[in-house]
Amino acid sequence: MQNVATKRIYLFEEGNASMKDLLGGKGANLAEMTKLGFPVPPGFTITTEMCNDYSRNNGKLPDGLMEEVSAKVKVIEAKMGKKFGDVKNPLLFSVRSGAKFSMPGMMDTVLNLGLTDESVLGLAALTKNDRFAYDSYRRFITMFGDVVLEIERKKFDQLLDEKKKKLGVTDDQGVPFESLKELVGELKELVRKETGKPFPQDVFEQLRLAVEAVFRSWNNPRAFVYRNKEKIAHDLGTAVNIQSMVFGNMGDDSGTGVAFTRNASTGDKVLTGDFLFNAQGEDVVAGIRTPLPISAMNDSKPQLYKELSEIANKLEKHYRDLQDMEFTIEQGKLFMLQTRSAKRTAPAAIKIAVDMANEGLITKEEALMRVTPEHINWMLHPYFLPADKEKAVKEGKLLAKGTPASPGAASGLVFFEAEDAIKANAAGKHVVLVRPETTPDDAQGMLVSRGILTSTGGPTSHAALVARGWGIPCVVGCEAVQVNLEKKIFTVAGKTFKEGDYISIDGGTGEVMAGEIPMVKPTELSPECREILSWADEMKKLGVYANADNPRDAQRARNFGATGIGLCRTEHMFMEADRLPIVQEMIMAGTVEARKVALAKLLPVQRKDFYGILKAMEGYPVIIRLLDPPLHEFLPSLEELLVEVTTLRLTGKDPAALKEKDKILAKVRTLHEFNPMLGLRVCRLGIVYPEIYEMQVRAIFEAACQLTKEGVNILPEVMIPGVGHINEMHFTREMAVRIAEEVIKETGVKVHYKVGTMVELPRACVIAGELAKVAEFFSFGTNDLSQTTFGYSRDDASKSFIPTYIQKGILAVDPFAELDREGVGGLMKMAVKDGRAANSKLEVGICGEHGGDPSSIEFCHILGLNYVSCSPYRVPVARLAAAQARIREKGQGKGIDIR
Ligand code: PEP
Ligand code: MG
Repeated sequence: MQNVATKRIYLFEEGNASMKDLLGGKGANLAEMTKLGFPVPPGFTITTEMCNDYSRNNGKLPDGLMEEVSAKVKVIEAKMGKKFGDVKNPLLFSVRSGAKFSMPGMMDTVLNLGLTDESVLGLAALTKNDRFAYDSYRRFITMFGDVVLEIERKKFDQLLDEKKKKLGVTDDQGVPFESLKELVGELKELVRKETGKPFPQDVFEQLRLAVEAVFRSWNNPRAFVYRNKEKIAHDLGTAVNIQSMVFGNMGDDSGTGVAFTRNASTGDKVLTGDFLFNAQGEDVVAGIRTPLPISAMNDSKPQLYKELSEIANKLEKHYRDLQDMEFTIEQGKLFMLQTRSAKRTAPAAIKIAVDMANEGLITKEEALMRVTPEHINWMLHPYFLPADKEKAVKEGKLLAKGTPASPGAASGLVFFEAEDAIKANAAGKHVVLVRPETTPDDAQGMLVSRGILTSTGGPTSHAALVARGWGIPCVVGCEAVQVNLEKKIFTVAGKTFKEGDYISIDGGTGEVMAGEIPMVKPTELSPECREILSWADEMKKLGVYANADNPRDAQRARNFGATGIGLCRTEHMFMEADRLPIVQEMIMAGTVEARKVALAKLLPVQRKDFYGILKAMEGYPVIIRLLDPPLHEFLPSLEELLVEVTTLRLTGKDPAALKEKDKILAKVRTLHEFNPMLGLRVCRLGIVYPEIYEMQVRAIFEAACQLTKEGVNILPEVMIPGVGHINEMHFTREMAVRIAEEVIKETGVKVHYKVGTMVELPRACVIAGELAKVAEFFSFGTNDLSQTTFGYSRDDASKSFIPTYIQKGILAVDPFAELDREGVGGLMKMAVKDGRAANSKLEVGICGEHGGDPSSIEFCHILGLNYVSCSPYRVPVARLAAAQARIREKGQGKGIDIR
């Protein structure tokens, strides 16, 4: 039912820029430019509500709408002193769609609407230019046929091409009037054949058909897919802009083009864009003629260039953002046909935000809101230029899409085994490691890889976690990729790739592509990036720490602006090649004494690690977590061992090796648990085997005392993982303090330290008040807390049922990627409140993977945490996200919408 009181059509002078919902982006900006007195050809906009009515009424135009359109046409006729469909002085229109958010490719423009066999004569007489009139008519029939009547465009183009071939010309401009006239006849005949009806000669019928086509286009499959991808609601509808034509194809003093107020690729403050003399808009886009750079206009038409520059300046000042403008010059007179906030690359977004704030055009808060976390990400990782990627997609090289796990682009040769990757890397090859999943055994191979692709696993899988930590582009859970490790091949989209074949992955989008795609690699943060992040630091309340396990990563994190280490996972130190045998010796030990012998060998190694990392973070806190994973993770897998033992037994060749392997097998069997994640791990490990934790604490404090002696200001903090019961905290804290004091006493050096706990079990949240009396800090381990709160396995859920859950609307997002504010967040809220009530000095942070996710960071800001901790490469993103959370809280910025 339509509300007759609602205004359904707005003349440009009746609207303004704030009316995007109703008039669409294009219509609202045309109205604004008209209101501001810019040279905009007169016109009007049919509202988006009419499109929705049309869809609701199953493709029937709202009653009386076309009568209202006719009335508005009259108004325009009066303004222009021309008449729609007139034989002597015809008024022509362009008809263009325009949704609230720009949706390129949804529906093209129809130009020159209103030309008929009669009015074309009027146009010819009026302009004294037969060729121009028939050129306009043949363009109109082609566009109308393609866009409105939905006849394949190439059928029209073929007829033009045949003409050109016959005439022996390559350029459209070379086709003379007589041939164009002939061509018009042929094009009309094509329409008659294809539709069974003659080309419409009633201009109001042309207009009605075009309006309906625009409305229809809102629901075409392309538009649907685009909206899904860009998260644009399907019920917004599109407006229709009907605007009087100005002609860029009236000779050499006419032209048309697109201009940007600054360079949308680099952000440089210069007017950029392309234009063509003697052309209509489609010629610029179609690529038939090579457009000239806008600067060339300054050489040939300096006055027009000056005028365009002035308009560009004014528009940018008015909208306070980079503008993307369309213009046409008709016989020396400039007209503006569109302006909108321009899409831009990440470097341009950052530079423009910084420059505009420095110019005083926008505030620092606005500048911070105009940069997105993705923009910052781009600056840190190699990336594919959009044009190169588009080209690859056009060439059919896109193979599949997985879960984007660690941003950045990578091209390289496929290898399946860590050792092969290492060898290939040593031989100077770029490697992309492809595996069903990765395990700690693959770490060295991962480290030398440019990119990592797994066919299983989610955003907290081993591959994802490690890749993010090291800043290696990574795509996980790409189920379309079928890996056959035995044959060293994978198949996808009907193609087979073998070892040494080239592939490319985009870890920011999850795309997997065949072949090599060129990349651009940033070497450091640009000066503008550093500047905007320094503003973020002034604005944000949250501290940003990093998860780092070695001095190199700590230094990198520090360079990226981290002001502490929020999680040093000591088990990663255990995994390194020179330590693993000692760790295995420690695990295999049958007695406490034997275990202590092995631990004594590990002590100096760990001390060296802690020395390096504490030193790298001088002046900042370093939170070191005691051993966390179940011990069997350090031993070979049961399956592997069974194969080896069976082979040795069958061949009977090496009884000594068999004996050794049998021993390991027995130990692996002893350690085997049905639910290792809920088994002998975290603090339970340190309570069952206290000597392991004692060695680690000793190593920390020997390093700390040594550094203090050397005059280095260090702030070590010992973190106990997986505490759920208060007695676990009592036991481990007492042990940590005892050893720390022992070392302090032995060395005679005073070191300030803290002992705290990870909060990663629901029970810990419930008893947070008690825990806070014993712990000096809490760090939310939201990977485990999400696992234990939902009861979803963090290693399996993202690949097994979460995609279906998201598809069926049970979950909006993967809770291992974006913090579940309601459930997990509810527990966190309770823990913060009870913890701080019991201990007002309690420091609270987060170190799960969510610490690098912008939405989760905002939630941490709302909860009033002290810091977030994330992988080094997420640190700059987290700094921005923390500032944006604060700005949003203060209600100072919504950010730009350039969709
Ligand atoms: C966590 O559980 O969130 C955490 C940081 O620890 P890990 O991922 O090492 O279990
Ligand atoms: Mg954990």
